[in-house]
Amino acid sequence: MSEAKPAVELTNISRIYGEKYALNDVSFSVQKGEIVAVIGPSGAGKSTLMRICDMLEEPSSGDLTLFQISVEKKTKKSLRERVGILFQKTVLFDRSVSDNVALGLQYRGYKREEIQRLTTECLKKLGMETYADRNARTLSGGEGQRIAFARVLLTGPELLLLDEPTANLDPLATRMIEEMIRTENAEHNTTIILNTHDQNQGMRLANRIIVLMDGKIMQMGTPDEVFYHPAAEEVAAFVGFQNLISGTVTKIQNGVAEMTTAAGVFLVQADDVHVGDAGTLALRGEEILVHNADTPREKNAENRVCGAILSSQKIGPVMELVVDCNIPITVVVPARHRFAELFVPGTPVCLSWLTAAAHLIPKTE
Ligand code: ADP
Repeated sequence: MSEAKPAVELTNISRIYGEKYALNDVSFSVQKGEIVAVIGPSGAGKSTLMRICDMLEEPSSGDLTLFQISVEKKTKKSLRERVGILFQKTVLFDRSVSDNVALGLQYRGYKREEIQRLTTECLKKLGMETYADRNARTLSGGEGQRIAFARVLLTGPELLLLDEPTANLDPLATRMIEEMIRTENAEHNTTIILNTHDQNQGMRLANRIIVLMDGKIMQMGTPDEVFYHPAAEEVAAFVGFQNLISGTVTKIQNGVAEMTTAAGVFLVQADDVHVGDAGTLALRGEEILVHNADTPREKNAENRVCGAILSSQKIGPVMELVVDCNIPITVVVPARHRFAELFVPGTPVCLSWLTAAAHLIPKTE
């Protein structure tokens, strides 16, 4: 990765449809060889951002630079040859698998023998050489998307735009596409921008994550920063923090803040906060331990609160408990927890968590 040369640079990009800002003053850059995931709820502007980067659509205002070249009428055509895009909806033509793979090469004017060689090699690499003569429309969703992806990759894009590439696929097919993404990036140092509503996919693949909401960048950072240190309550909720507890900083000591909340006084790592500041304590349900209410407070329980179970719900391999601690606190435990049968409404329990597990989001107003 070269710090000096961004492959993609957006400066104050906005896109307005009628009165609606699909993108509102978006600026960021992506370094060569970087994988950046754009996550955000439906309608956040992710696809609009992709279409602008692919030059299919023009921004209402702002500048786009690809490979250090400003996107303008006269540069667009040559720049487009350096960019590949894969959509959520697999695009396959009513022709053989190898014809489908070959299409991008044909379009770029490759010689017949070269197309044949590259196509065969590519299908072999995918372990799909026996599919070569089959009609592409008979493939399963996952196979079809791998073929569509192979077609894009064969053209050697320097920038790869992936618009929800696995949204319609099962977990196994998703893993295969993710492996193709990793390999392409590792072997060719291809710059990749990936749209996904699956935050875990962002976590698995990306060097950096952009959280887009309502057309605006809410946060841009490493997966660790976004998933463990969300910059705003909306981001925290989106990346799966079940507990967002309002409070006030009442003491700070050795970089740890004491937060007074409706559920009690809790400790949280304090960066850049002051006594008297209002904030939100963000805590994942998975970080909380549940104890029998009679268990004495354990020595290393930095934070503890007791209450009665309000509800419990099995969700596949996990169980979600909501505990009334003056305010509801959600806890996630394995469904086969050894006390699972005791987790019924009304049972008194105590909850504990480590100070390092919680994150403080200062109130901005
Ligand atoms: P996402 O991909 O995150 O779901 P989109 O980029 O598709 O979001 O859409 C962002 C917003 O812009 C949405 O409110 C959507 O309705 C609106 N939008 C997108 N494309 C158009 C269009 N061609 N005409 C009008 N509104 C649009």
